[in-house]
Amino acid sequence: MATNLHLSELAPHLVQSEIRAMTVACTAVGGINLAQGVCDTDPPEAVVEAGIEAIRTGHNIYTRLDGIAGLREAIAGKLASFNRIHVDPHKEVLVTSGATGAMHAALAALLDPGDECLVLEPFYGYHVAMLRAQRLSPVVVSLDAPAWEIDWDRMEAAVSPRTRAMILNSPANPSGKAWSMPELERLAEFAERHDLFVFTDEIYEYFTFDGARHISFASLPGMRERTITISGFSKTFSVTGWRLGYLAASERWLGAIGYFHDLTYICAPSPLQHGAAAGLLALPQGYYDDLAAEYQSKRDLLCRALQKAGLEPSIPAGAYYILADASLIEGPDARARARTLLQETGVATVAGSAFFAPGRGEDLLRLCFAKKRGELEEACRRLESYRAGKAS
Ligand code: PLP
Repeated sequence: MATNLHLSELAPHLVQSEIRAMTVACTAVGGINLAQGVCDTDPPEAVVEAGIEAIRTGHNIYTRLDGIAGLREAIAGKLASFNRIHVDPHKEVLVTSGATGAMHAALAALLDPGDECLVLEPFYGYHVAMLRAQRLSPVVVSLDAPAWEIDWDRMEAAVSPRTRAMILNSPANPSGKAWSMPELERLAEFAERHDLFVFTDEIYEYFTFDGARHISFASLPGMRERTITISGFSKTFSVTGWRLGYLAASERWLGAIGYFHDLTYICAPSPLQHGAAAGLLALPQGYYDDLAAEYQSKRDLLCRALQKAGLEPSIPAGAYYILADASLIEGPDARARARTLLQETGVATVAGSAFFAPGRGEDLLRLCFAKKRGELEEACRRLESYRAGKAS
């Protein structure tokens, strides 16, 4: 009999993230979780202390919907010096509930149901799922391994009269791709010619290796108006649970984006905004340099272990993930291979297929190296004593 008590048409098509599923499987066997980007290194003291102090001194009520002035001003200062983007802190910055809340509000404010948005593959699963959840249409354009370059014929062919936007993640999860200036210039010409919004996800902007420097798309000539620059503190300050991020956009768009963010979150966590502001103001350049150096050494550690295990890594230029070739691990697909590896080594990874359109990424696993050193070393020992394909 017909009933109103059923899921929405959309709900069955949005499955639980494979990352969360592997985290559950890992906990069940007491394994080491290299599946999720939980970043369990300690946050900087200045950030923690200012957050606690703000709670004690009564900053526990709603803030203005776009965040406290001190944080918006600090973000504008950081955008000018690090990202080379110049914004008005009182009209063009929105403090959000994570980069995730920023992306959600920006998509809701600027796109309409059925609009197409280009997403480069391998992609961060939340980008695709979030587009679907908002009744938007992700159009996946696959990049070519190993350098994850754009095939421009493929890119042009992906554009239709309904294409209104593109998501650009740099440095990217899971590939570690850090987009270069010539590539970004070509993307800028493309975005302009097709008149697209560009939603950037720059959450890993400080995680760049081998001397590479992050370049923000909005800093390219003429790109400011069409670009929504999204970043946050989850990764930079190791506070993923604080749910604190931000976006910068033209005043023309910011009001509507802020309104959509307000509808879901009202504001970002009030006392924690004080913590982040203190971090931006107090931490010297050395903090960011050390962060990149520390993660580069963790990347190298894990890459070496993967090579020894016969799981050839694609060396990332940024972010903190590695895609490794798992074709020597037995199993019909990447999910099965990830489970085999968990069973045999107690190290949890994510099936590469979680980052690709159906049928692709089945030979890959993604590993996260945002781990405390001791735990990462133990994971590496376990991987090194494993030999993929030893049975064959
Ligand atoms: N964007 C990318 C590419 C990520 O990998 C992640 C977390 O893994 C996020 C955004 C989440 O950011 P936030 O914690 O600020 O919502």
